Amino acid sequence: IGLFLNDQSIKKIAKDHTALAGDVSQAAVLGAGIMGGGIAYQSAYKGTPILMKDINEQGIQLGLDEATNLLTKAVQRKRMDVGKMAQTLTRIRPTLSYGDFGNVDVVVEAVVENPKVKKAVLAEAESHLKEGAVLASNTSTISITDLATALKKPEDFCGMHFFNPVHRMPLVEVIRGEKTSDKTIATVVKYAQKMGKTPIVVNDCPGFLVNRVLFPYFGGFAMMLRDGADFEHVDKVMEKFGWPMGPAYLLDVVGIDTGVHAQAVMAEGFPDRMAQDFRSAMAVMFDENRYGQKNSQGFYKYE
Ligand code: NAD
Repeated sequence: IGLFLNDQSIKKIAKDHTALAGDVSQAAVLGAGIMGGGIAYQSAYKGTPILMKDINEQGIQLGLDEATNLLTKAVQRKRMDVGKMAQTLTRIRPTLSYGDFGNVDVVVEAVVENPKVKKAVLAEAESHLKEGAVLASNTSTISITDLATALKKPEDFCGMHFFNPVHRMPLVEVIRGEKTSDKTIATVVKYAQKMGKTPIVVNDCPGFLVNRVLFPYFGGFAMMLRDGADFEHVDKVMEKFGWPMGPAYLLDVVGIDTGVHAQAVMAEGFPDRMAQDFRSAMAVMFDENRYGQKNSQGFYKYE
């Protein structure tokens, strides 16, 4: 069970471990997708310079476009002047190599939701870091203790789970793996707070806290579709119920590919609760390369 700590406990962690927490004056993010781009923007906006690494120019460009769009909107809405926009952009340094990772204090991994890929990326990143640097994974569902088996220093590793869109969602789950040190937790809690977020510390299990609630909801939605429900109808009803968006639209925002990968991790972790004996609409769309907003077609079509 992923236990969580309330605000009071977080304040206590922050207080008890202030001395323990390392300073984060330089960060890095691995993967410049929906989440990596958002994390880079938020870190830079709140004053911490960040390296943004991807495996190709196209990925980097998507992350930079995302940050530029957010900044342009902030200027248009008069929440920021052009000077601050330029200053924020200079704090995001795109790169295709680990060349400058030697002076990074915290690295947030945000590559695809696949344990094999994540383990390879984390192990490679670790080999380029200075003593005491912290590695964190933005995984939605994969066990931190399991990912840590790829690392030489599991004590310097934890989960740092942001939500989408990063600049708007206040919560960050900080996940403690079996071997994660208090210093690592304290450093990541401090970095999350510096980014203007509300961290909660949770124990490790598939899906942590929020996705253990969210994925059964997606599962319920998938069963309704199998039973013949119309997804647009369900979305409209959930909006009337008072939620900001329904499950189909939310899955398009999350990314159908990410949803399918995360669902597989949850089904393996909780077979009795999550197993479905039918091919869900999500899996069908994934096979047809309909990934949601990221490639303009999922449940809905986007211009
Ligand atoms: P995405 O597909 O938008 O981006 C993934 C990026 O990783 C791509 O740009 C890809 O080129 C890059 N990448 C792949 N291999 C790499 C490598 N070896 N080194 C560097 N970059 C590499 O995915 P996303 O939605 O941003 O999800 C990333 C992570 O964040 C996943 O673990 C996901 O579960 C998690 N997450 C996603 C959401 C969401 O709503 N989308 C929310 C919270 C957490």
